[in-house]
Amino acid sequence: MIDLHTHSTASDGTLPPAELMGAARDAGLSVVALTDHDTTAGLDEAAVALPTGLSLMRGAEISCTRGGVSLHLLAYLFDPSYQPLIDRLERVVTSRENRAQRMVELLVADGHDVTWEQVRRGAGGTVGRPHVAKALIDAGLVGSIEDAFTPDWVGTRGRYWAAKEEIDVLEAIALVRVAGGVTVFAHPAAASRGRVVGDDVVEEMAAAGLDGLEVDHPDHPEATRAQVRELARGLGLLAAGSSDFHGTNKPAVLGQNTTDPAVLDELVDRASGVEVL
Ligand code: AMP
Ligand code: ZN
Ligand code: FE
Ligand code: FE
Repeated sequence: MIDLHTHSTASDGTLPPAELMGAARDAGLSVVALTDHDTTAGLDEAAVALPTGLSLMRGAEISCTRGGVSLHLLAYLFDPSYQPLIDRLERVVTSRENRAQRMVELLVADGHDVTWEQVRRGAGGTVGRPHVAKALIDAGLVGSIEDAFTPDWVGTRGRYWAAKEEIDVLEAIALVRVAGGVTVFAHPAAASRGRVVGDDVVEEMAAAGLDGLEVDHPDHPEATRAQVRELARGLGLLAAGSSDFHGTNKPAVLGQNTTDPAVLDELVDRASGVEVL
């Protein structure tokens, strides 16, 4: 079982990287990728804690944009010391801090009982909207994380939402490639999360060197998976599948969706940044 998309406390997952590796082994995975939002900060801890029989694909999920639409790019096996990529990711992480503070300011201005210190304390690394959502739950303002991702709260373009800096996706693909990595477009058609890009953008990404599309993802209904699989086939892209595990921050379980071993082999063959551990 191969699961190529998970989050730890280095971003908005709830398990620390070491515990995530143990949970991945217990779930019966043979290969797991750690893909925290805009950071590689959890990879060393995961590598040290790697149990026998489990392989680690080092990666990240990069916050990108194209044509005014937000999208997520999974990057694997790139050299995590490649400075131009680190610099770019650090800018995104800094802007995430500023935008989360801005969201708290908007909440406080309306008299809601949340503080930046509380949100920052709840985040072990890259701060994200789930951390703001947790503060809303603690303040008794919403009942669940899901309820916070609505127009009345911090849903995209919602009342207390603020934009973060994102990287043009063609630039991100190019940076990862120069760093020896490979890329997969994460949940390309997860319409439940907001606007998605058209096939024209996927074609541009393929021309820029994109390696694959995440076909099987918890946020893709069956009919969507068939469409995305067909799009991948037409463009000669690999078809991946993953859980996008976030611990208790989301319902998905490890190995809920998986990637074919032949697809993993192809990704590994194409990469030259770092080894699978
Ligand atoms: P951010 O990257 O800070 O804008 O926050 C987006 C993160 O929130 C993503 O990692 C998603 O996994 C998570 N997210 C988005 N929509 C939802 C939702 N409806 N329920 C729970 N988590 C969500
Ligand atoms: Zn997330
Ligand atoms: Fe994502
Ligand atoms: Fe994710």
